[in-house]
Amino acid sequence: MEQAKPLSWRAVTELSALSAVPPGARDAVLKFYFGPMDCGKSTLALQMNYNHRRQGRRGLVLTKHDRSGGPKVTSRIGLGLEAIEVEDSLDLVGLVAGHDRIDYLICDEACFYTVEQIEQLADLVDSYGVDVYAFGLASDFRSVMFPAAQRLFELADEVCRLQVEVLCWCGRPGRLNARVVGGAMARTGEQVVIGDTDDAPVRYQVLCRRHHRAGQLGEGEGAEASGMRSAV
Ligand SMILES: [Zn+2]
Repeated sequence: MEQAKPLSWRAVTELSALSAVPPGARDAVLKFYFGPMDCGKSTLALQMNYNHRRQGRRGLVLTKHDRSGGPKVTSRIGLGLEAIEVEDSLDLVGLVAGHDRIDYLICDEACFYTVEQIEQLADLVDSYGVDVYAFGLASDFRSVMFPAAQRLFELADEVCRLQVEVLCWCGRPGRLNARVVGGAMARTGEQVVIGDTDDAPVRYQVLCRRHHRAGQLGEGEGAEASGMRSAV
């Protein structure tokens, strides 16, 4: 009778997913976190890098067109980290292959990468076992999806909408980015125009779907010099 106990103990242990799967044996993942500006994407990207690093994992942090204007990931709440700038010509598989051992990539502003680079990210996951965490906007100022974001929606193992309470001026959840040129909401133009810098004539404002469709910027409307936050 006493013998039964250790046997059942062993059986339970062997069935445990934690002990049965050796570390590193799981499939790598491609995850895409999206949301409007100010929803905390870069902050989460930096936090995720910190967490993985603490586990002894080795990774690279990539970005493109960061708000700092340099090869850095910076968040609006003041965190920052040196990063690799993803030029259109950069081969991401080659980049990883040029390093000793890479367990994961943090890809900030992935909406601005080329579609080919998104394919390369999928290759890194499937053929090289690299976890890829991509962050970015889904859609541009017209509410049309960025090609790279669309490809991420199509290929990612997991897609998560980030909604860290970015609010439209009306109080509804902010879902879409509006481009404001000369105090008015733009409907046409280049897909990527960098704004929100000190003397740029272009700024961006987060609106709910209703007010994005109506083109209503709220109290800040027409106020040329008003910053993004003063309009909220
Ligand atoms: Zn609104």
